Amino acid sequence: MKTNLRWYEISGGILLIAVTVCMLLFSAISLAEGEMRAAMFSFGVFLLLCVAIIIIINLKRRGALESVKAQRIVKAALGIITFFIAILFIPTDYYTPKKSCGTTELAGQQARYDSRKQPGAKLFVKANKTVNSDELTLTVYDICVGKISHKIRRDGPVNPQRIEILDRKVLTEKIKDEARSFGAQVVGVTELKPQYVFSHDVEGNPIAIHHKYAIVIGVGMNYRLASPSAPLPWEDYYSALPEDIAAELSGLMVRSSTKVPRKVVDEVREAMQFFSEGGSAAVQLAKYVRSMGYPARAHLHNRAGEVQIIPLAIEAGLGEMGKNGMLITKEFGPRGSFCVVTTDLPLVPDRFVDMGVKDFCMMCNKCARSCPVQAIPYGDPRAVNGVVKWPLDGEKCFEFLASNPKCMACIGSCPYNKQDYFIHRMAIYMISRKSIITNYLMVRLDDALGYGKASMVYAKKMGNAAAADGDTAK
Ligand code: SF4
Ligand code: SF4
Repeated sequence: MKTNLRWYEISGGILLIAVTVCMLLFSAISLAEGEMRAAMFSFGVFLLLCVAIIIIINLKRRGALESVKAQRIVKAALGIITFFIAILFIPTDYYTPKKSCGTTELAGQQARYDSRKQPGAKLFVKANKTVNSDELTLTVYDICVGKISHKIRRDGPVNPQRIEILDRKVLTEKIKDEARSFGAQVVGVTELKPQYVFSHDVEGNPIAIHHKYAIVIGVGMNYRLASPSAPLPWEDYYSALPEDIAAELSGLMVRSSTKVPRKVVDEVREAMQFFSEGGSAAVQLAKYVRSMGYPARAHLHNRAGEVQIIPLAIEAGLGEMGKNGMLITKEFGPRGSFCVVTTDLPLVPDRFVDMGVKDFCMMCNKCARSCPVQAIPYGDPRAVNGVVKWPLDGEKCFEFLASNPKCMACIGSCPYNKQDYFIHRMAIYMISRKSIITNYLMVRLDDALGYGKASMVYAKKMGNAAAADGDTAK
């Protein structure tokens, strides 16, 4: 079939139609999944592109594109658009070294860390000491972290009848399936490097674990509870948390001066249960491994535990460390909680994942902007005790959390904190390309669509005047 269209007009037409169709698809999928902001944005771009197509067709029909000057403009426009689309995918990868933040290989060997140096360690010692004497403390501690560690054995007798292992790969997959059946949402395996075992626990007792492997399991908090745009029903009850709500939850006693609505109590219950879910899965998995004839111990909470969970999770390929000090996963961004089972069961370790988090964090800074006490640093990551990372001021954070326990501004504002929807998976893929242009546009788009705004408003209200929409750098 003969056509009077030139090659660049055909290429430009195909490109324009392809992008327009993609936008319509994104809009439809986002609408079906209930992601209204993304649906409206995609549909808006789709409409703009439709208008552009209609204008171009009209110009062509009227012969307005036939002059030499017009043809030059069409060629230049096509070149610019093609170049722009290409640079969205081309890695600029300006940040080195390549390996993930939060692990030791970046800056040499790391000395074993003493658990007593962790922010909040004193609080855990206190909780451990009072756990059996004060019913209310028991309830609070029980719900938050102690339920599993105090009521169920994390370790136990090993079956003397050891199973025969024929294929380590098959065994590893089976163990991961078991972990999922116990409630884990993500599972990874890594070697247990000695530098990730604390030298002492929070009470000063030396720790010695000689297991070879660590199975890291994670669960994600319900997005609704950490949503930046969701209303914060607990906001008015900060002063009541946690004792008064714990009293309501337990039914043991009510010494509340604030009447806490049922909805708030239910939300707190859901959030607290989330923290114990991963622990429960770890305890069951450790028991299962011991029944196979291999030693295994569950490690439930980073501060009261014996191993450093975040570096192990990074090594096990579950995600990367963000500027906010959280492990960022593809599945639930920074909303995860992680537990570990250490064992000698011969497993096949997983590999690191490179999602481009550190490159994106360099551009983003939203958590640093939204932290009410500015505990999160701006700028480049740096080496701390052999680990390259953004060092969070844990004491500042903990001090603030003591009176504002629902502060999750650094989670709420994080662009990775989204529901596991198609459009967000696309965004995570684009970020993983490590293009500085894509990262810049993603941060601006995140701001423009209002994500994280609630966290910024909260930070301002709590005294961080620097929390401002739109500033990507300090
Ligand atoms: S929890 Fe709150 S105080 Fe702590 S680092 Fe995050 S934003 Fe800052
Ligand atoms: S808010 Fe931005 S800078 Fe902070 S962890 Fe998330 S992506 Fe990184």
